[in-house]
Formats: sequence, C-alpha cells, structure tokens
Amino acid sequence: MPLNPSQTRELLDKLEHQPNKKLGQNFLVDGNIVRKSIELAEVSATDRVVEIGPGLGTLSQAILKTGASVWAVERDASLAKHLRENIQPQAPDFHLIEGDCLDSPRAGLDDLSDGYKIVANLPYAVSTPWMEAVLAGPLPSCMVLMLQKEAGDRYSAQHGTKNFGAISIFLQSAYSVTGRHLVAAPCFYPAPKVDSVLLRLELKRDFIRFPENARECVRRIFTQRRKQLGTLCKKDPEAHALAWFESMIKEGISPNIRPEDLALEHWQSFAKRMS
Ligand code: SAM
Repeated sequence: MPLNPSQTRELLDKLEHQPNKKLGQNFLVDGNIVRKSIELAEVSATDRVVEIGPGLGTLSQAILKTGASVWAVERDASLAKHLRENIQPQAPDFHLIEGDCLDSPRAGLDDLSDGYKIVANLPYAVSTPWMEAVLAGPLPSCMVLMLQKEAGDRYSAQHGTKNFGAISIFLQSAYSVTGRHLVAAPCFYPAPKVDSVLLRLELKRDFIRFPENARECVRRIFTQRRKQLGTLCKKDPEAHALAWFESMIKEGISPNIRPEDLALEHWQSFAKRMS
C-alpha cells in the first residue's frame, strides 16, 4: 500500500525534504490510483518497466511487487539517496540512475530486444520534451502516464480543435489513446493546483515515427498555427514542406487550410516523404 498523506509528510520530515515545486514533486498517496496504473499497463513478472521520477518510490515498489524489473531516473539528489539506501538494497531488480530524464528518457535501459513499458507519474514541466525524446524510439509497447490534464488534452486532441498540435501528431501517429481517467488533486501530496489525468497509450501495429527533420518542420509550422498552412510551408528553408503541401492541394486539400485543421493522415504523409 502506498503511504497516505500523513505518512508521506512524516517520511518527508524524516528525510528533511521539502517538496520541490520546480521539480513537480506531488507524490502519489492514493492506493487506487497506484493499483490502476499497474492494471492499465498490464504489468507482469517478465516486464521491464521504465519509470520517470520515482520520488519516494511509491509506484516503483508497487511495480516491483508484480515481479517486473524497474529502470528509473530521478533528478533530485536527496530522493535518489533515499531510494538507493531504502529501496534498492531489498530490490535487485530496481535499477536507478540519478539524473535528468531528458538526458536518459529510458532511464538507462539499453537492452530493448524484449521490449519495454513505461509507467510514470511524470514531472509535469518536462513531460512534453521527454515524450518527444521517447517518440524518437525505440518505442515502448505501452505507456501509462500521469500528466497535467492540459498536456493530456494536447496529446489526445483531434484535428479541428485548438489543442491539436505537433505533439498530438507525433504521439497519435505511433500510439492509440486507450484510456483516460481524471485524477483528483487529493490523490497527491502536496495536492497540485492543476488538474491531472492518467492516460494509457498503446503502440499501434502500423506505427509511424516522424524523423527529426520532419518533427522540426512540423513544430515550426505550429508556432504560427493561425496562419494558412500554404504560407507557412513557403517558409520551409529546404522546401520539403512546400512540395508536400503542393501535392496535397492536387489531392483536393484547400490551399487556405490552417495547420490545426489538417487531419492526422495528411501529416503522416509528410513523415513518410521525409523518411
Ligand atoms: N513517482 C513519484 C510518485 O508518484 O509519488 C513522484 C512523482 S513526482 C510527480 C515527479 C518526480 O520526478 C519527482 O520525484 C521529481 O524529483 C522527479 N523529477 C523532476 N524533474 C525530473 C527530471 N527532469 N528528470 C528526472 N526526474 C525528475
């Protein structure tokens, strides 16, 4: 069972640790959410699971209990010390590195031949750059992620909505969103001021990965999302986007369309051209 809010406070006092807002330290204190995360990821004893920001080790311990092995990366030195001293000695399958998930998006898991999953209550400030690093591959078969609701809305947005953007395109080209659960603030200590959502993402059979040059171009286009796509493509220094857009006009796409109104499958044709 995870620690409840007062046990969490006691442990933090014992460690003389003040939750760090900048590092998004809102610890999970709700047993149902911890259980649900593991159930949604269908974690089994043979799985290798990457966890970002293990914090006090609540989620890590629940994953380890299934018999799975855990690769985790924690940026906070005092929490990493706690994990090394109090969790690792009893858990040989717990592999921890102290560092930044943007440098180690797979927490040092190098042998990916048998596949892997990701289960994490993410530090909200870095969730999108971290996600982009994961999407560069090799890709996990499944991810169950606690996110700021706003980020979750962008990840799962459909075209024609204000939330649809570069990350929606990269993520949904590789993953189906197969679960979405709102999570209330009291499930964390301290309670965050923003809403949270638990997302389940499942790797598509026919996943498409955007190469870096295509991602860079799509990101640039979405920095001016209210402009017409044709105008934006003309600014592509290498003219790849312009050639792609001209081919779409021939297929009947309006020359006046805005980036957020273009459907996923059309964006995917850009990735294929650039691969
Ligand atoms: N997993 C724990 C839980 O669910 O209770 C803690 C989750 S808390 C939302 C986010 C964790 O990520 C914190 O432990 C924080 O120190 C860590 N963190 C923040 N930024 C990080 C980064 N760039 N790389 C790795 N860990 C980071």
